Amino acid sequence: MKLTILGCHSATPRDNARPTAQVLEMKGHLFLIDCGEGTQMALRKNSIKFSRIKHIFISHLHGDHVYGLIGLISTFCLLSRESELTIYGPKGIKELILLQLKLAKVYTSYDLRFRESVENIPQVLLEDDSLTVTTIPLEHRVFTQGFLFQEKPGDKRLDIVACEEYGIDHAYYRKIKQGHDFTLDNGEVISNEELTINDGTSKSYAFCSDTVYKEDMVPQITRVTALYHEST
Ligand SMILES: [Zn+2]
Repeated sequence: MKLTILGCHSATPRDNARPTAQVLEMKGHLFLIDCGEGTQMALRKNSIKFSRIKHIFISHLHGDHVYGLIGLISTFCLLSRESELTIYGPKGIKELILLQLKLAKVYTSYDLRFRESVENIPQVLLEDDSLTVTTIPLEHRVFTQGFLFQEKPGDKRLDIVACEEYGIDHAYYRKIKQGHDFTLDNGEVISNEELTINDGTSKSYAFCSDTVYKEDMVPQITRVTALYHEST
C-alpha cells in the first residue's frame, strides 16, 4: 500500500499547497481520491501515469475537492484514452461533469461511468478478489462520504516448523495456506492457527475528509492501518 498526497490544503490553492487530492496504490490498483484544482500538475510532478487511474473517488462537491476533475477528464480525451473510467461520488457529480462536456462539445474516447451515492450509509462501491472499497458516511454542509479501502487477506503463511513437527505431507500445504485445519491420523484436529503465521499483511486505509465530529464512524475506522482526516 502506498499513499501519495497530491494536495491537502483547504479552500484555496497556494504557491506551496494544493487542494485535496491523493493517489492510493493498493493491490495493483491506482485510485485517485478527490480531485482539487491542480491535480493534473501534481500527478505529473509525482510521475504518476494517468492511464493507470481507472477509478476516481470524490468525497463531496465542494470545489476544493472536485474542481480538478473536469480538467483531468478532458485531458484523458486529449490523450486518446481507451480504457473505462469510473467516478464514484455524491448524487449530482454526473450532472456536473456531463454539463461541462456538453457545453464544450467534448466527447470522451472512453467509457465514462458514474456511480452516485444517494443514501449516506456505508456501501460497498468496489470489490474484487484482492480488495473492497466502502463508503464512510460523514457529516458536512453538503452530502459527504469518506472511503475505506481494505485489502482482503490472501493465502496465509505456513509455519513450516509446526507442519513438519506434526509430520504433515506437503500435499496438504495448499489447503492449510487457505485456512483449513488439519486432522491427524489419530483423529486429533490441529487448528489452522497452529500451522500458520499471522503476519498481519492485510492493509487498510480510511480517507475521511470534511466532517464534524461523528462518533458513529468509529467502528468502521478502528484498526485501519492508516487514517487521513481533516483538521479544520
Ligand atoms: Zn467541504
